[in-house]
Amino acid sequence: MDLNDTPEQAAYREQGRAWLEANKEQAPPRTGSYEDMEYIGARRAWQRQLAEAGLAAVTWPREYGGQGLGPIEQVTVNQEISRAEVPGILDVIGIGMLGPCIIAHGSEEQKGRYLGPMLHGDEVWCQLFSEPAAGSDLAAIQTRARQADDGTWTLSGQKVWTTNAHFASFGLLLARTDPDVPKHRGLTMFIVPMDASGVTVRGLRQISGEAEFNEVFLDEVSLAEDAVVGGVGNGWGTALTVLMFERLTIGFGLENYGSPTRLAEALAADPTARKSPEVRQQLGEIISELLAVRFNGYRALTMLLKGQIPGPEAGLAKVTLVNAGIAAAELSVDVIGPDALESSTEWSYLVSFLPGLKIAGGTEQILRNTIGERVLGLPPEPRLDKGIPFSELRAKERETVA
Ligand SMILES: Cc1cc2nc3c(=O)[nH]c(=O)nc-3n(C[C@H](O)[C@H](O)[C@H](O)COP(=O)(O)OP(=O)(O)OC[C@H]3O[C@@H](n4cnc5c(N)ncnc54)[C@H](O)[C@@H]3O)c2cc1C
Repeated sequence: MDLNDTPEQAAYREQGRAWLEANKEQAPPRTGSYEDMEYIGARRAWQRQLAEAGLAAVTWPREYGGQGLGPIEQVTVNQEISRAEVPGILDVIGIGMLGPCIIAHGSEEQKGRYLGPMLHGDEVWCQLFSEPAAGSDLAAIQTRARQADDGTWTLSGQKVWTTNAHFASFGLLLARTDPDVPKHRGLTMFIVPMDASGVTVRGLRQISGEAEFNEVFLDEVSLAEDAVVGGVGNGWGTALTVLMFERLTIGFGLENYGSPTRLAEALAADPTARKSPEVRQQLGEIISELLAVRFNGYRALTMLLKGQIPGPEAGLAKVTLVNAGIAAAELSVDVIGPDALESSTEWSYLVSFLPGLKIAGGTEQILRNTIGERVLGLPPEPRLDKGIPFSELRAKERETVA
């Protein structure tokens, strides 16, 4: 998104650009292996520098180390970081999604203890929500937390697709605390130290060759009473805060993937491709989609500036952007040829990484369902689990199948 900056915004952009120009030599490469702890260490150090320069947690309140600014300034910073061709913050999940949840629902002690080290990259966080049988249907979580008479909790269960768990210090975890109420009501959010006894992290290898996400096994993990975030039984509401910030983070962060400029540059490098009507046609389609996303993004930004939350239609931006990004990366690979698939190139990373984003942060089908039901007013999907205690759902499902 290129914004028509006000004089104040232009000055803010200039200030960020000047800092990045002066410091970009110290930045680590934009891409690197998330299994290489030396690279991760360099990214943590770079995150600290960005935070100290006011280029991280732009929308967090000042009292927690943020800049107390709005989404426009966050987008401006994202654009300038991309323009400088340096990496952004390492802990996008912590700063973009989990920190804002702790700010909204955490106790003062939790905010004081966790937000500073998160912001400066000293403690990276992971999101322990998805499970083997709870992804799109997140409220079907089975990881169980039981409270003892002394107030402490014991966690048992399994999480999956946990990005960055292999180097995270803490995780924000959704668990079932009461199976005898309907599924959205018996959930609670916890802070889990990843080095606690009973936590086992096992990497999952992706098509890109990387193991960025993991399975996490929780075997009788003991937690203090004050590990709860947002109150016992309020886990669903607390999780929705994270999911809302997840969509915003993906939406704002993705704008540069497959950007028309870089795509056009890549294609311009190949004179034959530039003349090909087929390539030009595809390029035109991709650029139109990206422009539509940009103008919808302006609409979402305007709503945020007015203090409103963008409606479910904002989910379409993610669907369109990811698909346009995939088409852009694939077209570039067609044009550049096998060289584009060299493991060190950005295009190779995008080709193998972007399809996963069709699933992350809400799958394309689920987002389309939401648009169908809540924007277009189509008939809702049948929901057989309404009002039924979670502990009775399995028996009901078996009855329905029989
Ligand atoms: C790159 C990446 C990073 C991730 N990082 C994390 C993380 O850090 N922490 C975390 O907790 N999770 C993470 N996830 C997990 C992600 O949230 C889930 O993969 C996602 O919610 C989908 O759940 P699932 O994989 O169980 O698929 P399922 O829910 O089993 O869905 C399988 C398929 O069925 C379709 N489907 C399901 N229900 C319906 C329906 N009602 N109508 C139509 N179609 C339907 C889905 O769209 C999908 O195509 C990550 C995923 C990816 C890809």
